[in-house]
Amino acid sequence: MPHLDLLAAEQQWWKTEGIAISDTIDRAGTPGVRMFDKLGRRIDEILYPREYQTMLRKGYRSGVVWRALEENSLIPTYLLMYTISFHDPGVCCPYTVSLGTAVPLAKYGSAETQAHFLPPLLRKDDSVWQGATWMTEIGGGSDLGAAVNTIAKPAADGWRLTGDKYFASNAAAELAVAAARPEGAPPSVRGLALFLVPRCRKDDRLNYFLRRLKDKIATRSVPTGEIELRDSEAYLLGQADSGIYLILEVLNLSRVANSVVSVALAQRAMADALAYAECRTAFGKRILDLPLLRRQFDDRLKSLRSAFALAWESVRLLDQVWMERPPYSERYHLFRLVAHLAKYWTAEFAVDTAKWAMEVHGGLGTLAEYGAERWLREAMILAIWEGTPHRQILDGLEVMERKQAHKMLFAQLAEIAPAGELQEMESEVQRLLNLPPQQKEAEAEAVFRRLAVLSADQLSRKYPH
Ligand SMILES: Cc1cc2nc3c(=O)[nH]c(=O)nc-3n(C[C@H](O)[C@H](O)[C@H](O)COP(=O)(O)OP(=O)(O)OC[C@H]3O[C@@H](n4cnc5c(N)ncnc54)[C@H](O)[C@@H]3O)c2cc1C
Repeated sequence: MPHLDLLAAEQQWWKTEGIAISDTIDRAGTPGVRMFDKLGRRIDEILYPREYQTMLRKGYRSGVVWRALEENSLIPTYLLMYTISFHDPGVCCPYTVSLGTAVPLAKYGSAETQAHFLPPLLRKDDSVWQGATWMTEIGGGSDLGAAVNTIAKPAADGWRLTGDKYFASNAAAELAVAAARPEGAPPSVRGLALFLVPRCRKDDRLNYFLRRLKDKIATRSVPTGEIELRDSEAYLLGQADSGIYLILEVLNLSRVANSVVSVALAQRAMADALAYAECRTAFGKRILDLPLLRRQFDDRLKSLRSAFALAWESVRLLDQVWMERPPYSERYHLFRLVAHLAKYWTAEFAVDTAKWAMEVHGGLGTLAEYGAERWLREAMILAIWEGTPHRQILDGLEVMERKQAHKMLFAQLAEIAPAGELQEMESEVQRLLNLPPQQKEAEAEAVFRRLAVLSADQLSRKYPH
């Protein structure tokens, strides 16, 4: 397998150094912010311990961002994320949003913007810049068309952005992509454009301000804050009137990352549960050998393989279409459906598995020192960011309805799955799509869930165990 040595080295580093750093960061909670320097100038510096930088920079050096553009493939990026998130799901957020900055810049930035900003994002040493992807505002993340109030005004040398971003991960990144509405654009999702926003202005003063950091239940390896854009220097990516497509391309990179991270988290929670069940005894046996628990382990292992297959199928498809621009191919729409199924189902599976792994530990599972509680906290966030389950279901419905993406999915599955099962599922999907709009939304979850499980189970035949 290509990159095997890279992944083995990454794994080894986490065992010898990374795990201890990650545990400390998680237990330490939200870091402080130094807002002013000694001369009273705004600096908005996040006060993580030095070891945090060691952990964070390791993934960048290994190539979680630069390899995608140098090797012209997303496979190494997602392989690295899978390996890293087995130990720390949260630290994959900075990597994902940095990728989500580098890719649209490489695809849609002007030659001048690329020449200035891309090389620092792709550095292979510790001076690498980080990216960020800021869409969500106080009005909510699901309905971006209504909730994005950040305004973009044209300026002689680019654009100026003013507005507040309410959930902004990697809050001190050197460069961010942000959704904003050019003055006079329609008040819907079609009026949004995507802009590149550097941390520092041309005169070196701060270009955006960090109001505060969020005190979160998990993903403490990424600082998430509130950002104030105040006449901030910005550069338009692509055409203003196709901004929503670019925003969705950024989100899709994250949704696939989220799927990979969810599967790794579930695998980690199961590995910890297994290690515990091999040692703990009850009723004269290792608890692993008690029939009820043994069956649960067997069933969950099968589901893990299915979840992995679904996540990896989304990686494989994205790797084929990530350089496409609108108007997209049919394959792109197939990818979108698989990405919604994967984001939805793998996160649900991760939450359920983390809860179960805690139960296997019994009361000890609720204690921080056993680790199981952390996986449950982390998993809860995976289900919400990058679009909640509701969003995945409704967007999945849309791509089936408007682009007939389910037909492409069924055609692909037909090569590996029994015909009867597929036909039954296909008529269930068709029945849903034929319902009146309100009823269709109300009844979508059960069908979407069955479609996700069926796809995952059938795809698992494709991947070696
Ligand atoms: C730790 C963390 C970090 C984050 N980092 C970032 C970041 O870096 N950049 C960024 O842009 N965002 C970020 N987010 C925001 C995240 O993307 C949003 O939380 C998410 O998109 C949901 O938006 P919301 O929280 O505003 O919920 P809302 O949109 O207010 O939704 C509230 C509830 O209503 C449901 N709902 C909405 N519409 C429908 C519908 N049509 N049908 C049924 N139910 C519906 C939602 O699913 C949800 O359950 C982050 C979030 C977290 C928790």
